[in-house]
Amino acid sequence: MKMSETLTRKIQLVDLTTLHARLKPELDEEIEKVVSTAGFINGPAVGELECMLAGYLGIKYAIGCANGTDALQVALMALDVKAGDEVITTPFTFAATTEAILLVGATPRYVDIDERTFNLDANLLEAAITPKTKAILPVHLYGQAAEIDRITHIACEHGLNVIEDNAQSFGATYKGKKVGTFGRVSTTSFFPAKNLGAFGDAGGLFTDDEALYFKLKMIAQHGAKIRYTHELLGINSRLDTLQAAVLKVKLKYLDAFNDARRTAADGYDKHLASANLRTPYRDANGTHIFHQYTVTLNEDGQREELQKFLQSHGVPSSVHYPIPSHWQTAFHDDLYPKGSLPVAERISQRVLSLPMHTELDEEQVQFISEKITAFLGKK
Ligand SMILES: *Cc1c(COP(=O)(O)O)cnc(C)c1O
Repeated sequence: MKMSETLTRKIQLVDLTTLHARLKPELDEEIEKVVSTAGFINGPAVGELECMLAGYLGIKYAIGCANGTDALQVALMALDVKAGDEVITTPFTFAATTEAILLVGATPRYVDIDERTFNLDANLLEAAITPKTKAILPVHLYGQAAEIDRITHIACEHGLNVIEDNAQSFGATYKGKKVGTFGRVSTTSFFPAKNLGAFGDAGGLFTDDEALYFKLKMIAQHGAKIRYTHELLGINSRLDTLQAAVLKVKLKYLDAFNDARRTAADGYDKHLASANLRTPYRDANGTHIFHQYTVTLNEDGQREELQKFLQSHGVPSSVHYPIPSHWQTAFHDDLYPKGSLPVAERISQRVLSLPMHTELDEEQVQFISEKITAFLGKK
């Protein structure tokens, strides 16, 4: 185990600089077009990107917006979700999912997660529906689809809208169809570290419904279709033209990025096969695009020590997410004491995300896996 001295490149949790260096000439050209025309707001690259995004997903309409959190809020506003309404979601996600529900005045109602996929457990969904339920907001976590066909089916039977939070799975498929095309509307984030990342904050909304498309677009732009004529209450959430220009370049390579992530994941699976932990489950119904490669430890209390050990060997790691939404102080709700969502609570103590990005190589994956196996022992 003297490999730490022989590793040729520093291991990073996410490596955007190497990726962007490879794409620099193309990125520079697109950015320069925006700068030289000063069309920073609603310049042509925005509409061009929207068409490319819609084509990529196989959906009629795409709308760029300022970030993935706004996208969720705009979607909820466009579906008239408001105070007194309940929105069913997962407690095991980035805070933005719950935040958006609360920001429109509605109440999040959590359904526990599937132990294997970490996504909202569709078996528990029906029991959570009440007369106040207005929408279901599943998240496709870590790059893998929730059981989205069953979720939309149950939603349909109850006359509910589905909003897919597709911030982590843009490009993943479920039963041969891209995720983000199952619900009434889907949202994504182009935060730099996402699989398709901009050079700052950016996000998007997707729908097949023409009337909803116009409403979403208006709400994201101050509720106005005609300048200074405000028909709806909106917000300022336009997509910057500069971000659209960057995304136009990177979208062309998204499938290659996702393939590179999957190759790294295959390497981890192979090298961690005998380690005393659980590698990510892959649902045979879909393709996993590994926004995160997240392992599950077998015991509480191992994680911090393992992270320290890895760090001492130059291996960064991260926890997505250490506190489930129902335990966040900001979202406190008496309905969810400790023990109310047991799977999410247990999983949040045991998951660990390893370095995952397009530039990770076999040598690094093997090195990281060997260190983990050395620390945890074999199965
Ligand atoms: C990143 C993310 C968001 C928020 O996106 P921003 O662009 O950072 O606002 C929302 N939901 C999930 C699941 C995310 O991972």
